[in-house]
Amino acid sequence: MPERLVIIGAGMASGRMLEHLFEDAPEAFEVTLFNAEPRGTYNRLMLSPVLAGEMSYAEIVTHDGAWYARHNVSCRFGERVTAIDRDRKRVIGVQGAVPYDRLVIATGSAPYIPPLPGRDLAGVIAYRDVEDTDRMIGLGAGSKAVVIGGGLLGLEAAAGMAARGVAVTVVHRAGHLMNRQLDVPAADLLQQALEARGITVLCNAQSQEILADDKGQACALRLAGGTELACDLVVMAVGIVPSVGLARAAGLTVGQGICVDDHLLTSDPSIYALGECVEHRGAVFGLVAPLFDQAKVLAQTLRDLPGCFVNKDVSTKLKVTGCDLFSAGDFNEGEGRDSITFSDPRTGVYKRLVIENNRLIGAVIYGDTQDGGWFFNLIRDGADVSALRDTLIFGPAYQDAPDPDPEPVATADGHAAVLMEISA
Ligand SMILES: Cc1cc2nc3c(=O)[nH]c(=O)nc-3n(C[C@H](O)[C@H](O)[C@H](O)COP(=O)(O)OP(=O)(O)OC[C@H]3O[C@@H](n4cnc5c(N)ncnc54)[C@H](O)[C@@H]3O)c2cc1C
Repeated sequence: MPERLVIIGAGMASGRMLEHLFEDAPEAFEVTLFNAEPRGTYNRLMLSPVLAGEMSYAEIVTHDGAWYARHNVSCRFGERVTAIDRDRKRVIGVQGAVPYDRLVIATGSAPYIPPLPGRDLAGVIAYRDVEDTDRMIGLGAGSKAVVIGGGLLGLEAAAGMAARGVAVTVVHRAGHLMNRQLDVPAADLLQQALEARGITVLCNAQSQEILADDKGQACALRLAGGTELACDLVVMAVGIVPSVGLARAAGLTVGQGICVDDHLLTSDPSIYALGECVEHRGAVFGLVAPLFDQAKVLAQTLRDLPGCFVNKDVSTKLKVTGCDLFSAGDFNEGEGRDSITFSDPRTGVYKRLVIENNRLIGAVIYGDTQDGGWFFNLIRDGADVSALRDTLIFGPAYQDAPDPDPEPVATADGHAAVLMEISA
């Protein structure tokens, strides 16, 4: 008899986990899949190209109803699970209860909505799913939008709407854009590129209140200091919080996320969790690469095979066509750290590598990111780079050159100002 496996959440993490499971053990489980969204699994990352008009929804679907049907999954799309009854081993959906032998919680994250007066008004949205994307697409050329948050999501939302002719202002509390991923010079280049698309960027700007028109619709964002930014839509993109409500109510151990061990097991021996809803050894997640590692491990765990999740470094890319940036590791200055910087203002290329104890520990690149993967591997592997140091910033192509010359990398015609500096 196959075991009854119930999964809550048909997001990217559980979709990948089921792929592994069906590949290795197609008959082992009788699967029921709940999803609050009224659809199967899609590549959430690619909502931004959809928003920008570069892809269609159909192109980003990864596991639709037909895929699940082929694997005999009983789908309950559009049905939110409201409780987990651990004593009777069943989950309670809006349309009824389903028993499980083993349960996987994969509820992802919810957008963090700051306690800003006016946040509940019509015309205030987050950026998480197809519905949010549709709202932004529905604005139409000539409308005005304010995006609160100048991180990855906020900038992708801003660029996507701007590409559709919407006048967008980004309001960012920190002193420079993507302050978690970029240093000031890289963020300045990014800001210039966004402004060249007509996006207004306000850094060091504190949102104070969202104002309503006489129909109760958001019509402006007021900043500390009194500036009012008129708008038809406010998009909140200031962060995410793991969706832990079900797990907490069921009495599972929850910190910032649902606490799991290296095998993705929660504090209940029949319940597992993966994706953005989990906390593993104190870490929570916001990028997909580690979630796919979790998916593989959980598929092994469910088959009682050994497998351990190890949280590795991840790199960041912004999916705004024409704004190429790469960021990985720790790029902050500090004692015992050296920075190697390359900057070509004419071509808009900037690279900074941070070295500590002969190891590359961080990299920020703007404009020419083709070597990002190579730098990322050096960071992840903790490789000793002392022998490469003189040419490191020029990437893998220069590692075998007997007499490396930075000029060809810097500029083809030699007119640009090229700066390469090494500072301790
Ligand atoms: C616009 C956008 C762009 C992004 N770009 C990148 C990127 O470039 N690179 C990157 O690495 N990451 C990116 N991310 C993050 C990435 O998409 C997430 O890390 C990933 O989708 C999380 O997967 P998940 O399966 O944990 O959660 P989700 O994909 O959020 O899936 C969780 C699912 O669970 C469902 N659910 C929740 N509660 C319940 C319930 N009670 N009952 C039933 N169903 C429930 C939800 O409806 C949802 O469908 C981006 C995210 C967004 C929104």
